[in-house]
Amino acid sequence: MRPVSYSRVADVATAIGTVAADPGSTFLAGGTTEVDLQRIHVASAKRLVDINDLPLRQVEELPGGGVRIGAVARMSDVAQALPVRRRFPMVSQALLLGASAQLRNMASIGGNLMQRTRCGYFRDVAAACNKREPGTGCSAMTGVNRGHAVLGTSEHCIATHPSDLAVALVALDAVVLTQGPGGHREILADDFYLAPGDTPDREHPIAHGELVVAVQIPPLPMASTSIYLKVRDRESYEFALASAAVAVALDAGVVTDVRLALGGVSSKPWRARRAESVLVGAPATVESFRAAAEAEMADAVPHAMNAYKIELGRRTIVRALRMVTGDARMVSEDGNPP
Ligand SMILES: Cc1cc2nc3c(=O)[nH]c(=O)nc-3n(C[C@H](O)[C@H](O)[C@H](O)COP(=O)(O)OP(=O)(O)OC[C@H]3O[C@@H](n4cnc5c(N)ncnc54)[C@H](O)[C@@H]3O)c2cc1C
Ligand code: SF4
Repeated sequence: MRPVSYSRVADVATAIGTVAADPGSTFLAGGTTEVDLQRIHVASAKRLVDINDLPLRQVEELPGGGVRIGAVARMSDVAQALPVRRRFPMVSQALLLGASAQLRNMASIGGNLMQRTRCGYFRDVAAACNKREPGTGCSAMTGVNRGHAVLGTSEHCIATHPSDLAVALVALDAVVLTQGPGGHREILADDFYLAPGDTPDREHPIAHGELVVAVQIPPLPMASTSIYLKVRDRESYEFALASAAVAVALDAGVVTDVRLALGGVSSKPWRARRAESVLVGAPATVESFRAAAEAEMADAVPHAMNAYKIELGRRTIVRALRMVTGDARMVSEDGNPP
C-alpha cells in the first residue's frame, strides 16, 4: 500500500497554492480517471487536493450568445443545461455519448479535458510507453493498435485522445481559462492539446499547480443545429473509434461556413481544416462531402491493425455532414451507406 494524503479546499487560491507548492500533489475532481490511474500505479501523486467545493459549477449564458462553463460542473449537468442544449447541441451530445450515466454524474468538465489516453500500454506499467515513461519506446507501434490514431501521430506515440467534449470544443473555437501561480491564461482549445511529436508525455501547455477554472464558448449562431456523431464498437459506455463534431451554414444550398473536428482517429482533438476549406463555397452535396473527407484523411498514416480508421474517418465525416445539412437518408446513389 502506498500512502496518499487527501485534503479538501474551498477557494481557488488555496487550491493552486497547495498544489503548486508540492510537486507530489495533484488536483482531484470527480476522481473517475485520477483514482483509477493511482490504483494501477500509472499516476503516483502522494497528495490529492479535492477541488469539488470550489465555486466553479455554474453554466452561464454570455452576452451575444456564448456560454461559460465552470470546471467543476458535472458532465451530466452541463449536458442538460438549456443554454448548452439550445446554442451548442454538439456539446450536449458529446457529453451524453461519453462514459456511463454514473460516471457522467461524478465526472467534471475540467477532469474530462485533462483525462489521459486509454492506450492499453500506457495503462500497463510493465510495457514500454513514451507517454508514461519518456524514452522507453512505444509498445503500440508493433503491438495491438486497432484503436490507435492515424492523424497527427509521430514515431514516438500513436495514442488517440479520448475526450469527446474536447472535439466539440475544438470545433467551436472554445477557450480554456486557467489560473495558476503565474496568473490567468486563456488558451484556445486547439492549442490546449499538444501533438505527440518527440515529447508525447507533454499533452497540455499547463504548468504544475495551474487549474482549469472554466471553458468559454464564443457565440456561433450556426451551432444551434450542430451535431456530434460518435462511431464505436457498442452503442454505449465505449470510447470513439471515430467521431465528428460539425456545424454548417448554408445559403441556397451552398456551404458558406463550416466547423468540423474529429475524434477517435487522431492524437489530439483534430480540427479538420482541410475539409473545411474544401467545403466553403461548395454545394452541400454528397460529392462535396466526400471530397472534403478525402482531403482531410489524405495524410493519414496507418499501422498494422488500424488502417480501417482511414475509411471510417472519411465515412464519419460524410455522414455527419449529411446529418447536419438535413440529408439524413444515410444511403447514397449506389445504395450503400456514405
Ligand atoms: C469506463 C470509462 C469510460 C469512459 N468513457 C468516456 C467516453 O466515452 N468519452 C469521454 O470523453 N470520456 C470517457 N471517460 C472519461 C471520463 O469522462 C473522465 O474520467 C472524466 O471526465 C474525468 O473527470 P473527473 O472529474 O473524474 O476527473 P479526475 O479523475 O478527478 O481528474 C482527471 C485528471 O484531471 C486533473 N484535473 C481535474 N480537474 C482539473 C482542473 N480543474 N484543472 C486542472 N486539472 C484538473 C486531475 O488532476 C487528474 O489528473 C470514461 C471513463 C471511464 C472510467
Ligand atoms: S501509443 Fe503512446 S501511449 Fe500508447 S504505448 Fe505508445 S507511447 Fe505509450
